[in-house]
Amino acid sequence: MLKIFVIFKPKNADHNDIRFEIDGELKGFGFISRKDNQLALTRCPICDRENYAMSVLTGQCAWCGFSIYQQAGLEIIDRTISPAPKQ
Ligand SMILES: [Zn+2]
Repeated sequence: MLKIFVIFKPKNADHNDIRFEIDGELKGFGFISRKDNQLALTRCPICDRENYAMSVLTGQCAWCGFSIYQQAGLEIIDRTISPAPKQ
């Protein structure tokens, strides 16, 4: 099961980070705009590749087709505050 965690940034940031969790394992990341809630996919949780730059703001992986909007749906976004994993 795929979950999305929102990692809240300081108040002056224009976005919050998002992390994906699949079966208890953190995979991939992206962000969500504070202005219009647009989702962005930076690294794919399914194929674990860095997304093609022009595709990041579509929320879809250019390599395997995974889409945040299609697969996860905004309704399952879990707004749990989670500490950012070590880079
Ligand atoms: Zn992918």
